[in-house]
Amino acid sequence: MSVPVWNPAVEFMEREALERLQLTRLRQTVAWALKTPFYRRRLAEVGLTHPEDLGSLRDLRKLPYTTKDDLRAAFPDGLLAVDLERTVRLHTSSGTTGMPTVIYHTRPDLDHWTELVARCIVAAGATARDVFQNMTNYGMFTGGLGLHYGAERVGMLVIPVSSGNTGRQIHLMRNFQTTVVHATPSYLLHLHAALAGEGVTVDQLRLRKAFIGAEPHSEETRRKIEALFGIQAYNSYGLSEMNGPGVAFECVHQTGLHLWEDAYMLEIIDPGTLQPLPEGQTGEIVMTTLQRQATPLLRYRTRDLSHLVSGNCPCGRTHRRLARIKGRSDDMLIVNGVNVFPSQIEDVLMKTPEVGTNYLIQLEKRGSLDRLVVKTEIYAKLFTGDPRTLDDLRERIGEALRSAILIKPTVELHEPGSLPVSEGKAKRVVDLRPAF
Ligand code: ADP
Ligand code: ZN
Repeated sequence: MSVPVWNPAVEFMEREALERLQLTRLRQTVAWALKTPFYRRRLAEVGLTHPEDLGSLRDLRKLPYTTKDDLRAAFPDGLLAVDLERTVRLHTSSGTTGMPTVIYHTRPDLDHWTELVARCIVAAGATARDVFQNMTNYGMFTGGLGLHYGAERVGMLVIPVSSGNTGRQIHLMRNFQTTVVHATPSYLLHLHAALAGEGVTVDQLRLRKAFIGAEPHSEETRRKIEALFGIQAYNSYGLSEMNGPGVAFECVHQTGLHLWEDAYMLEIIDPGTLQPLPEGQTGEIVMTTLQRQATPLLRYRTRDLSHLVSGNCPCGRTHRRLARIKGRSDDMLIVNGVNVFPSQIEDVLMKTPEVGTNYLIQLEKRGSLDRLVVKTEIYAKLFTGDPRTLDDLRERIGEALRSAILIKPTVELHEPGSLPVSEGKAKRVVDLRPAF
């Protein structure tokens, strides 16, 4: 089988050549960073005043970390490394966890980003013959314009619809026979549930692939989307601090997300000790930009948790793969002293055939104890029969959760469409516990 590939020279580059390229670009990046007062100070603190002070890639470890708080403190332009007149666009993060961060781009920066997105699209098997409907927001959020330019570069026919208005999305898909979509996984599940209301069946669509990302989701959720639409869904990972989408993406083999190592230096660290972890261990993803001139970032702590997949991918790409993102280090819930990741709960729910397309995790305080409530939508037909069926289902989900997270939550079953839906990133956790 021939592997679809956008830039074979870079995507199949031998590791040795790739690492030489990384060192050249890392030195260049440090040179750019030294133009900002922020990094001049930080680098001076570790005795680095010149890019040539980096003798080898191992010296990456000498560089200081950069955190989201550093970016916030530098708001708006403390990390800008070029004159404003050379910048052509800025993006901010979605602000999921607080004040947004700003990233500036020069024209070459945007060009490099577009190239990375084009690689991802082609790696996932899409081509110039596809009709691409981009269902993510076109504002400051990077998923809109990021995928848009990549798809145009590949030569796809792009429908720049942006997010929301599900009825319109469905009719556009039908009228223009959309073959590939980009959306958050939670939104695609919602869209599927809305098809019937629009009088459209999956058979009337020509969808064959979806790019899903921007929020944590489980393998079970991916499989559910694939089964509901009869398509392949590919995991897309990115963050505005590293441009946005185009950082890491699954190829047609779906064996983990290839991270473009000519554009990003990747490390996985222990978020407690800040020491790099051996390959295969789960920790925080840390990345250094290698090509971005306007806002170079050194050892940026993403707070996202993952591990490196060992071995080679059958596609032959030499760029290493990240495992599915487990969540953010600050996503972890502590319920009566037990650590729980929302993704563990999602896994159990999406494995349960009766469970529909939406759920919500709620935390409450009862006296001195935490109470975990898992609210999930189930298919409408289950509400018409014997109430014992619902009791059994509640019990079955409760027990499955107990074996996964060691806590038996209160399970509530809801009718389809009754839990809140988001057009962008889903808000899955509501914590009603007092702050102290
Ligand atoms: P914010 O950090 O405010 O949400 P971004 O839009 O930059 O703003 O979001 C990037 C974050 O979204 C990542 O750091 C990660 O936590 C999450 N994310 C993006 N893609 C994925 C994915 N495929 N799987 C899991 N989480 C993802
Ligand atoms: Zn591959």
